[in-house]
Amino acid sequence: MTRVTLITGDGIGPEIAEAARRCIDATGAGIEWEIAEAGIDVMKREGTPLPEKTLESIRTNRIALKAPITTPVGTGFRSINVHLRQEFGLYACLRPCKSYKGVRSRYSDIDLVVVRENTEDLYAGIEFEKGKTETRELIEWLNKHSKRPIGPNAGISIKPISVEGTERIVRYAFEYARRMGRRKVTSVHKANIMKFSDGLWLEVSRDVAKRYPDIEFEDRIVDNMCMQLIQKPELYDVIVLPNLYGDILSDLCAGLVGGLGVAPGANIGENMAIFEATHGSAPKYAGQNKVNPTALILSGLLLLQHLGKANEAQRLEKAVSAVIAEGRDVTYDMKPDRNDPTAVGTQEMADAIIRKIKAG
Ligand code: NAD
Repeated sequence: MTRVTLITGDGIGPEIAEAARRCIDATGAGIEWEIAEAGIDVMKREGTPLPEKTLESIRTNRIALKAPITTPVGTGFRSINVHLRQEFGLYACLRPCKSYKGVRSRYSDIDLVVVRENTEDLYAGIEFEKGKTETRELIEWLNKHSKRPIGPNAGISIKPISVEGTERIVRYAFEYARRMGRRKVTSVHKANIMKFSDGLWLEVSRDVAKRYPDIEFEDRIVDNMCMQLIQKPELYDVIVLPNLYGDILSDLCAGLVGGLGVAPGANIGENMAIFEATHGSAPKYAGQNKVNPTALILSGLLLLQHLGKANEAQRLEKAVSAVIAEGRDVTYDMKPDRNDPTAVGTQEMADAIIRKIKAG
């Protein structure tokens, strides 16, 4: 048995966690789940949205499936997701975007994987507020050392991109491509404008690419990449990006395949991984057995692949795509009319997927 931490989250989290757990178990993957709490419900009881025993469970098992968590306002936590990424050094955010027949979208046959750097760039959280003493000192220093003056009323966000951080994420993208039998990696940047951050990213990307002669490599400037993805998404395969571009383009790519309901994700570190849907805790639907469990189930599929359980992952994907393609036992958001009375609930959609798994 492989032990995996299951963070049930809050809002719609517990219901989709239950649906995903049951579907994964039906594949016979032999997972022993250790249930752990995080979010606003546990915060009311224990005074923290992320209890130490939850962190300890992830630390011990090194792998977790996490349902969405509401970000509580005014608790000092920026976001539990950011906290987990930092705590466990989860430097790679993996977002596969794949078309499933039956999901409404303007596109078909999309099969892209976004690999986003998770720790550096403008997301590093190094910011200086307008008017603060340290901001004024920084502006003075910058005005002394740079030819372009900054006015005294500017706020400043710093964009660090390091050789080590870039090398690690680009290598991850190539290793993933090789492991998953993918043909090409595209590195995205704005090196023509930001020569010392994005320029470094591009230079390191090219160096890393030389070590993977079996996989095609190319680079694209981020604005061009956005247009290309809209016009010719079929040209792309694995796309590796710095943090901010990765954030924006993963939503763009999720949009290409039908949106949040079917967008899975993973945050991956050296010896640690947390799998989760892209969507949030949708509090207004909590406890109604109404929302779509697909994104978390597909995150479970990534978890199975990560554990090397390729057969189980394949069976799960086949069952999910069959249920979606049939369009009968699906939740309201997957019906052409969202008020369609034949829409099924979260657990009933999971039941239909389990029936398909069992039927082979
Ligand atoms: P959300 O993704 O929770 O919901 C936005 C809307 O998308 C919902 O109202 C619903 O109409 C739809 N939706 C989302 N998931 C769905 C599903 N599985 N099935 C059907 N429809 C679905 O985004 P939000 O309302 O901006 O955020 C709510 C809370 O979730 C916030 O506190 C936010 O911070 C948090 N959040 C958590 C995570 C995470 O845990 N990884 C990610 C994003 C947002």
